[in-house]
Amino acid sequence: MTTTHEALKSGHLKLLINGTWVESQSEASLPVMDPGKGEEICKVPLALREEIDAAVISSQDAFEKWRLVPLTERMQYLFKMKYVFEEHFEELARINTRNHGKTIKESRGDVRRTIENVEAAIAAGYTLLKGEHLDQIAQDIDEGTVKEPLGVFGVICPFNFPLMVPFWYVPYAIVAGCTVVVKPSEVTPLPMVHVAELLEKEVKLPPGVFNLVHGSKETVESIIAHPQVKGITFVGSTSVGRYVYKLAGEYGKRAIVQAGAKNSIVVMPDADMPAAIQACIASLFGNSGQRCLAGANIVTTNEAREHLVENLTKQAQRLKLGYGLNEDSEMGPMVSKKAKDRVLQHIDKGNAEGASLALDGREVSVKGYENGYYLGPTIFDNVSPHMTIAREEVFGPLGTVIQTANLDEAIDFINKSTNYGNAASIFTKNGSFAREFRRRVQAGNIGINIGVAAPIAFFPFGGMRDSFFGVLHGQIESIDFFTDRKVIISKWGP
Ligand code: NAD
Repeated sequence: MTTTHEALKSGHLKLLINGTWVESQSEASLPVMDPGKGEEICKVPLALREEIDAAVISSQDAFEKWRLVPLTERMQYLFKMKYVFEEHFEELARINTRNHGKTIKESRGDVRRTIENVEAAIAAGYTLLKGEHLDQIAQDIDEGTVKEPLGVFGVICPFNFPLMVPFWYVPYAIVAGCTVVVKPSEVTPLPMVHVAELLEKEVKLPPGVFNLVHGSKETVESIIAHPQVKGITFVGSTSVGRYVYKLAGEYGKRAIVQAGAKNSIVVMPDADMPAAIQACIASLFGNSGQRCLAGANIVTTNEAREHLVENLTKQAQRLKLGYGLNEDSEMGPMVSKKAKDRVLQHIDKGNAEGASLALDGREVSVKGYENGYYLGPTIFDNVSPHMTIAREEVFGPLGTVIQTANLDEAIDFINKSTNYGNAASIFTKNGSFAREFRRRVQAGNIGINIGVAAPIAFFPFGGMRDSFFGVLHGQIESIDFFTDRKVIISKWGP
C-alpha cells in the first residue's frame, strides 16, 4: 500500500526522515482539504523542532556520502526519477488536483513541468558542473576552478504548484551532490508526499538525500536556523519572502526567494485581437488565477478597450467551472475558504473604489459540489491605476481592465503602480512597440504575444523588484546556487 494511501487511511501525513516514514510527535496539525468538495482529506502535522533537526542531521550525513558518488551515478538516479514520474504521471496529476483543486489538465501541466526540470538537471549535470582550466598563466603555473556541492538545503514551497515549484530546485541540488529537506505548503502537502514516496520506494534514492517535513512558520525558521543548513530556496508571498530572506541573511545562509506578483498584459490596438483575448482568458483564469504569472491587469488604449471588455466578458462567461477531476472542467475552485474570502474582499474593495463590475463571479454554484470553494471569473472595467485591485496581488480569478493613452503610459503604469516585477506581456504586431516594451518594463519574465510568460526549465525563472530577492533564480540557474567554485593554482616545474 502506498504511503499516500496509508496517510489517507490513518488520517495523518508522516515525515520522511532518513529513508523512514515517521509519525510526528507534534500535537499540532492542520486539515488538508479537497477544495473542490470542501471536505477534509487528512491532517498535516506541524513538526517539532527536534524532528526538523533530525531531518537536517540525516541530510548532512547523507551529504557526506552523496557528494562522493560519481556524477554519472548521481545522474542515473535522475534518469530513474524521470521514468518513475512518467510511469506515475496520471496518479501524480490526480493527487495534485484532489488537494489543490485545479483542473486535471492543469495538473498534467504541473507534472510535465516537474519532469522537464528533472531532464534539465540531467543536462546541467553534463555541462554546468564542469570547471575551468588555464595552463601556464605564469612560468610553470596552471590555474583553474572546480565546482563543489555546498551541503544541505531547505526547499520551502507555496501552495499553488505543489509539484513543479519544488522541482525548480530539488533535481539540480541532487545532481550537484547536495541533499535537501523539503517543506511543502501545509495547504497542499499531498502531492509532494507522493513524490517523496516514489523517490524512496522506486527511485531508491539513498536515505537522507531527500527528506520531507511538514509545518509552517516555525518549521521554516527551524530549517533556516539549523547550523548544518547551507541555504534555502523559498517560493511564496512577498511579505513572507522578505522575512525569510532577512532571516537567512542573519544566519549567513544563501537564499533564493521568488515572491509575489501583480502582472500586466498590454493589448495594443494593432494586436491580433482573437489571439490576445484568448491568451488573456487563459492567463487570468488558468489555475483559477492562483498563478504567479497570471496577467491580472489587462492594460489597453482607448481604441481597443470596448471591444476587449465585451469579448473578455463573453469568453470568460463560457468557462466551465467544475470539480477538477471531471475531465470537462475548465476552471477549478479556490484552494481554500480563506483564499476565496480574500478575493471576495478585493471585489468589495473594487466596488467601493468605483470600478465597474463587468462580470461578477460571486454567485456561482457547482452542482453536486456545493461545499467547494468555487468562484467564477470576475472582471472589473474602468479601473484606475491608484485602485487597490490594480496594485495588490489578489491571487484569484479577478481581472481588471485599465485604460491608458498609449504604450508609454502603459509601461509607466506597469513600472510605477506596483513594486512587483514578476511578469509582463504585450500583444502587438509592431516590432518596435514590442522592443520598447521588452527593454523598458521592469519585470523578470516578458511575454511578446504570449499570455503566460513561463520560462522552460533550461532558462532561469525570472523575477525582479519585490517579486524576487537574491541573485540566482530557480530552474537550471539554481545549479550555481547549490555549488561554489574553488580556485586551484598549481606550480609544477619540469
Ligand atoms: P505563503 O507566503 O503564504 O507561503 C509560502 C511558504 O512559506 C509555505 O511553505 C508556508 O508554510 C511558509 N510560511 C508561511 N508563513 C511563514 C512565515 N511567517 N515565516 C516563514 N515561513 C512561512 O505563500 P502561498 O500562499 O503558499 O503561495 C502563494 C504566493 O506564492 C503568491 O504570492 C504567489 O505570487 C507566490 N508565488 C511566486 C512564484 C514566483 O516564482 N515568484 C511562484 C509561485 C508562487
